[in-house]
Amino acid sequence: MLSKTVHEAINEQVKNEIQSAYLYLSMAQHCESINFPGCAQWLKKQWEEELSHAMKFIGYLNDCGGRAVLGAIEKPKPEWTSMLSVFTDVLAHEKKVTAMINKIYALAVKDNDYATQVELHWFIKEQVEEEKNAAAIVEQLKVIGDKGTSLYMLDHQLSKRGK
Ligand code: MG
Repeated sequence: MLSKTVHEAINEQVKNEIQSAYLYLSMAQHCESINFPGCAQWLKKQWEEELSHAMKFIGYLNDCGGRAVLGAIEKPKPEWTSMLSVFTDVLAHEKKVTAMINKIYALAVKDNDYATQVELHWFIKEQVEEEKNAAAIVEQLKVIGDKGTSLYMLDHQLSKRGK
């Protein structure tokens, strides 16, 4: 049984995960529009992953006898000035999500809610992965200078993202 506080926090996170998905879909559409299909592909995988995170939280609420009440999501930014700014935003966004997950964990600790702590372990590890992947692309873009042949090579590399 979840406390009202933890239930509300997880419910809010369902919305946040869908908001993340929506941001990545917007970024993917931006990349499609400027002919970087590999970057778009990477971001579309990211959109799918965020939706799966939302569903994982919904599943947990349901397992605990609760339900999600969906909140309103905001219109995401439609355009970026460079590929570096796209992936810098991905990294900044993932850091925000990490802070959100950590906040829910702190609530679960305060509540002696061990089941939620265990459930959140997966998300905490996932965020390490998310930040690592985004940071690696930001670093590569800084090295290659975010233009020319190197950017097309990075685009090709990102097109290979499997999941
Ligand atoms: Mg997520």
